[in-house]
Amino acid sequence: MPEGDTIFRAARTLHRALAGKTILRFESMLPALTRVHEDSPVTGRTVENVESRGKHVLMRFSGGLVLRTHMRMNGSWHIYRPGEAWRRARRDMRIVLATPDFEAVGFNIPVAEFLTDRSLARHDELRRLGPDLLSDDFDEADAVARIRARHATEIGEVLLNQRVLAGIGNVYKSEVLFACRVNPFVAAGTLDEAAVRNLVETAKKFLRVNASSDLAAMTTYTGFRRTTRRDDPGQRLWVYGRARQPCRRCGTPIRVRAQGGNARLTYWCPGCQ
Ligand SMILES: [Zn+2]
Repeated sequence: MPEGDTIFRAARTLHRALAGKTILRFESMLPALTRVHEDSPVTGRTVENVESRGKHVLMRFSGGLVLRTHMRMNGSWHIYRPGEAWRRARRDMRIVLATPDFEAVGFNIPVAEFLTDRSLARHDELRRLGPDLLSDDFDEADAVARIRARHATEIGEVLLNQRVLAGIGNVYKSEVLFACRVNPFVAAGTLDEAAVRNLVETAKKFLRVNASSDLAAMTTYTGFRRTTRRDDPGQRLWVYGRARQPCRRCGTPIRVRAQGGNARLTYWCPGCQ
């Protein structure tokens, strides 16, 4: 699943490409979207802004219409110039929003719905999101309290729970815990307040550094970190994806194990953590 910083960058890229522009063409393979479009067309509306909230992307159109998308594991938004060849198969297309300058194409997006300002405000999943690490009004004390309230749950699982804290995905879960030398399998309640605050601050730092790097620039957004040599995860991550390789700090082989209800892989160094 993409991390919060990936979604944040996607929203920012979409915002830069689309905000202030009129939608000339709308296409979707998703009946829930086309039904709304038939009743109250998206075509002709102006894109007011695009923002991320946790791992949701919210695209606001004039006339009080909001498109919410969530990428889950495989979804992505791409930006193309009109006429530019898509880098994914047409059969993977779920949504196309075309303005005079750009075409935003959502591929394999599993969750998409139109909302109004009212239904957005009442939206269950959005309302239940924990403090968003990438939001300007991120409440650190609230985040620390929410983590500590999950007494018996393993900290590696707690960090992935978007209702506790929004933005951390599976990569940063392992990386943050390593950086803070916290064992992923200890119960959240056994960590003191300073340790939890350190986790929150580290997660915020990791996400914000990556959110601010302009890898995607304005060309094409490919939904996950660029796979240039410099951004190769194997080259720049501490533990994630490095099972059996020596710890970069102490040389102990990195371990991996499925954790939590969804059996997400957790990487850690038994020497450092
Ligand atoms: Zn180590």
